[in-house]
Amino acid sequence: MPARYDVIIVGAGITGLASAYHLQKNSPDKRMVVVDRFGAVAQGNTGRSNSMFRNTFSSSDNQVLADSSVDFYLHLQEELKVDVGLQKIGYLWLMNEAQLRRSEPYLEKMRSNGVETVLYERPALRRMLPGMVTEFGASEDARMMGLPDVDGAVFGPKCGRLDPEKLAGFYADGFAKAGGKFAFNSEVSALMIGPTKRLGIEGEPHVWQETRIEGVALSDGEPLLADTVVLAGGAWLNELLEPVGVDGHVKAKKRQLFSVYAKGQDMEGLLRSREFNSIGLAPMVILPKAGVHFKPVSEEGCFWVGCEDEINRQFVNIPDHDLEKYQAEAEYYQRDVLPILSAYFPMFRDAGVKAMWAGLYAYNTLDNLPFVFRNHSLIVAGGDSGSGIMKGDSLGRVVASVYREEKEATLYGGAKYKVSKIGFERRDVEPEAWVI
Ligand SMILES: Cc1cc2nc3c(=O)[nH]c(=O)nc-3n(C[C@H](O)[C@H](O)[C@H](O)COP(=O)(O)OP(=O)(O)OC[C@H]3O[C@@H](n4cnc5c(N)ncnc54)[C@H](O)[C@@H]3O)c2cc1C
Repeated sequence: MPARYDVIIVGAGITGLASAYHLQKNSPDKRMVVVDRFGAVAQGNTGRSNSMFRNTFSSSDNQVLADSSVDFYLHLQEELKVDVGLQKIGYLWLMNEAQLRRSEPYLEKMRSNGVETVLYERPALRRMLPGMVTEFGASEDARMMGLPDVDGAVFGPKCGRLDPEKLAGFYADGFAKAGGKFAFNSEVSALMIGPTKRLGIEGEPHVWQETRIEGVALSDGEPLLADTVVLAGGAWLNELLEPVGVDGHVKAKKRQLFSVYAKGQDMEGLLRSREFNSIGLAPMVILPKAGVHFKPVSEEGCFWVGCEDEINRQFVNIPDHDLEKYQAEAEYYQRDVLPILSAYFPMFRDAGVKAMWAGLYAYNTLDNLPFVFRNHSLIVAGGDSGSGIMKGDSLGRVVASVYREEKEATLYGGAKYKVSKIGFERRDVEPEAWVI
């Protein structure tokens, strides 16, 4: 006999776990199970991410979804004393005049939505980040690469880094304590479609019958049946959605991170830049070119470096299950990222690479904002476009509200959010312009 649940959640990454936590907390009497092909939580892209959080977005929807999630994470760490590895180091977006001007309307919107930002001018930045090159003058390399000068910066103080495995662990423990179950090493091979009323005739469901997703088939073992299936499969959504004719508007793209030693006086000095936060660490710094960024990882004595390679990098519709198939490329770091990075911060020029890895962004190809939508008994959450950890808590709350057929989700802190805004039928969001 196949096991029967009220809710099956596919995916034990941050989206599935935050959803499971809020679903089970709100409906303690329901039988729920989280299913994942990996052997533990956060083994997909959640465990490969840069795990940064910010509330600085151009879109009001992203602002509210991230801001309230960040508040929840701060509440966990600071009030409930749950260690989620959170460090409020801030985000520093370095810009030239034109970029600063283009940011003004976004900054205005952030201010009116209560998102704090601080503007720094070049002289202050020079003092705060000694050794940074702010003007390229007649440099031929800089001209060739089209590197903008640094005329100022936007700083987001309520931004920083956390530990995604610890955060995932918090949600998983809370789910389990509330009665939720896990099925690890369980590969969902298909969503099962069945008639709402089974007639026992051949070929069911027929087109004239009302149908629903009635469970999941597993590659190995008995299927699992449920009244509701929540699909939070991250970059792998299409694999289960396309066979049942549901469009997730999501495509995956490889993203890489490089851990670089912070050795020597200049690198260590940069790592321990004192003026941005109370921790005495450099903020996450985003350069004015190609979204090249670095963040301090003081416990490893390293910086993690990444880059936004928007075009020039293929989409993957149905990614390989094994993320090891997506390897970081040493040459990409040397030829593409390092020339930009070391032009602004020459101390990186000879810094050795300690480790590198890659994962997949799951882009919502419509507007780079996440989605949560219902299709009969199926709820799908994803399309986080590279910022799913920082919005994880809000998405989990939206999933729980969609499950209970509520029009509005109550986000952490009490803000009401209309769930149809990030659905597809009546989608009503502003496209995101500040993507890295
Ligand atoms: C290099 C990199 C840097 C990033 N930096 C940041 C950052 O700084 N901040 C931030 O907020 N976000 C960042 N992200 C994005 C972040 O990692 C994702 O938004 C987030 O992890 C998505 O969580 P998820 O639960 O949707 O997906 P995942 O964590 O990938 O989880 C999906 C899970 O579903 C399971 N699954 C899928 N299909 C099936 C199936 N058929 N059967 C069984 N199990 C299945 C998978 O095994 C997986 O465990 C980054 C991503 C990358 C790759």
